[in-house]
Amino acid sequence: MSLKIGRVIGVEIRIHYTWLLIFMLVSFSLAEGFMPAEYPNHSTLVYWVTGITAAILLFASVLIHELFHSYVAIKRGIPVPRITLFLFGGVSQIEEEPRDPTAEFRISVVGPLSSFALGGIFGLLWFIFNALNFPVVIIAPIYYGFIINFLLGLFNLLPAFPLDGGRILRARLWSRKKDVIAATQLATKVSSFFAYGLMLLGFISIVTGSLFNGLWLLFVGWFLRNGAEATLQQTTINQTLTGLNVKDIMTPEVITIDPNITVIDAVRDYFYRYKHGGYPVVGDGQLKGIITSHDIQNLPKERWGSTYVWDVMTPAERLITISPDDPATEALSKMSKHDLGRILVIENGKLIGIVTRSDVMRAIRRRVDLKVEQV
Ligand SMILES: [Zn+2]
Repeated sequence: MSLKIGRVIGVEIRIHYTWLLIFMLVSFSLAEGFMPAEYPNHSTLVYWVTGITAAILLFASVLIHELFHSYVAIKRGIPVPRITLFLFGGVSQIEEEPRDPTAEFRISVVGPLSSFALGGIFGLLWFIFNALNFPVVIIAPIYYGFIINFLLGLFNLLPAFPLDGGRILRARLWSRKKDVIAATQLATKVSSFFAYGLMLLGFISIVTGSLFNGLWLLFVGWFLRNGAEATLQQTTINQTLTGLNVKDIMTPEVITIDPNITVIDAVRDYFYRYKHGGYPVVGDGQLKGIITSHDIQNLPKERWGSTYVWDVMTPAERLITISPDDPATEALSKMSKHDLGRILVIENGKLIGIVTRSDVMRAIRRRVDLKVEQV
């Protein structure tokens, strides 16, 4: 669940609800801890104003860091539909895995670099504002911006997925080994080592009395552990599908629905009978659209008898389709990008097949089984 707040360089910016929680926690701990410790003898109001301002600066810093990742990815021809700010900072949803180690290296390294540069700018401002005797409500957040950006840069350089450092490490290994899966496997091992190391530190902290720090370290370790696993999986899927085209994995015999039947007939004769979640709508030999169980769920049941398929279907001109000669990974990335359960395969304006998520999974399993048999 996330909230859309705007669009920068064509990238949608969203805030995940966990960020609101973190925002409050950060404001609180700054107002009650960091600020009074760094700048004693001010009122509670001053601490809360500086705390909240500093939390906003943290938010802006994370966003700028992510925007730099996105910018370099877009420059390299990799689409970035959105950035989501969440618990640990931000995630740029970069659509495809970088095609070569140089691209991956540049996309990753620019994040920590931008944090260090921001830290430098805040440090300079802090120095100037201090010399000019600016009030503490200005100086304190700037000081925090200086510290936090250096910490962000350093934290992200940890060689653990899904942090930038993990990707930088993989890019180096990838360019040396020339094999992205082997590089990912090795980088995942290093990531796990760091993740378990953090968890161990967390455990030691808890038993020696720093409960909060300990829990936090455990949590970060767990997060990195999961991220490493997910990255390995993602890479394996992409590599397994490499060399396959859409026509190799699609289902060629597609059950289609006539646009002129009622929704109730469609449910009875197709949805209940064949158990698919969606069907292409074809009339007079022409693809008219697609109808999914989702379209039907949105329609009140009492109208099923009086509504026709063409009333509720997604019309052909709004469909995301794919060509049989496109790479199979393209089908997967289009489906996840547009959150689709299936994608129609079109050749010369004609429907020739359909690719569903289960088709993709089947293709992956087939390839993995085949590899096992060859051993
Ligand atoms: Zn980053």
